[in-house]
Amino acid sequence: MTKKQVFVTQPTLPPLEEFIPYLQKIWESKILTNGGPFHQDLERELCKYLGVKYLSLFTNGTIALITALQTLRITGEVITTPYSFVATAHSLLWNGIKPVFVDIDPDTLNLDPEKIEAAITPQTTAILPVHCYGHPCDVAKIEKIADTYGLKVIYDAAHAFGVKLESGSVLKYGDLSVLSFHATKVFNTFEGGAIICHNEKTKVRIDQLKNFGFVDEVTVVAPGINGKMSEFNAALGLLQLKGINKAIQERKIISEQYLAGLDNVKGVRCLSDSGEKVSNYSYFPILIQPDYPISRDALYQKMKDHGIHARRYFYPLISYFPMYRGMTSASPSNLPVAKRASDQVICLPIYPALQLSEVDQIIEIIRGR
Ligand SMILES: *Cc1c(COP(=O)(O)O)cnc(C)c1O
Repeated sequence: MTKKQVFVTQPTLPPLEEFIPYLQKIWESKILTNGGPFHQDLERELCKYLGVKYLSLFTNGTIALITALQTLRITGEVITTPYSFVATAHSLLWNGIKPVFVDIDPDTLNLDPEKIEAAITPQTTAILPVHCYGHPCDVAKIEKIADTYGLKVIYDAAHAFGVKLESGSVLKYGDLSVLSFHATKVFNTFEGGAIICHNEKTKVRIDQLKNFGFVDEVTVVAPGINGKMSEFNAALGLLQLKGINKAIQERKIISEQYLAGLDNVKGVRCLSDSGEKVSNYSYFPILIQPDYPISRDALYQKMKDHGIHARRYFYPLISYFPMYRGMTSASPSNLPVAKRASDQVICLPIYPALQLSEVDQIIEIIRGR
């Protein structure tokens, strides 16, 4: 018998039979896209669920990021983190913007606000931080710097679906926030994404940009893109939303089991929260310290040999890839904290269908038994 393989994540799906009536509606109406009824419903329902005023759905998170930068007409240089998924920095290159990498905070692994000011030049126009693993950035400090220097702030909130601070949704901070609804994320529409903004005028501009720049049948005001979410994905989103609280609760139980099992294991550091009131338990990163008996990569391989496919998010750093490597700010000496985290991190499997017995098995492997 082959051993069951466990992956870092497994997409959450609603019961198939519950999706059929949605599909029937699409087939009957023959409205497949272009802001149809499911698209409108999902925008409304997500605003309610997330506690935000304006949200525009997108075909995926990367197109949403690229469009967010277009929305605010960002140019020149943008300060960002090397410790993220490549799409964060790629969205800048797709806009002809130069990414300037700044090191991360050793506790949260988010952009270190203390290091932002030194990277600002006359060309800097914005900051693009990431709420890494759904742990909120230091939004107050980042806002203060942005206000002082007249910079825009766009949060890559791809990991931060449903995350709340004492003051409410983390998505309320910055000029814009971008979500991803990719299959691997906490809330998925197979592929999908969204931009959150704070006023009607910006929402109108975003909606024009995601629809080729059309204002009406005969007027095009910008070189827009096709970023529209289809009715199929929007319908799926409406159904997924019904199960989201249960899914997050199941993730929470797994997270707590890991925390209890890995507490006081020498050389293993579980990344703590960073002040959120409501977490989404999207990832469970651990950092393998030098006093752990074997190397990070040896543990990674050992888990693989047991059929546990954890992932080294985020290794390598974005700044390591050839299209970034030559930039001054990409030098490892500029990014020692990010480099160390990237060399130490393993994200453990976490998803609603993961069995608690499997969690125990993973804990045992890490404890070296
Ligand atoms: C998933 C992800 C993206 C890209 O989102 P897609 O919907 O896959 O295009 C961007 N940034 C981060 C941090 C991500 O994790």
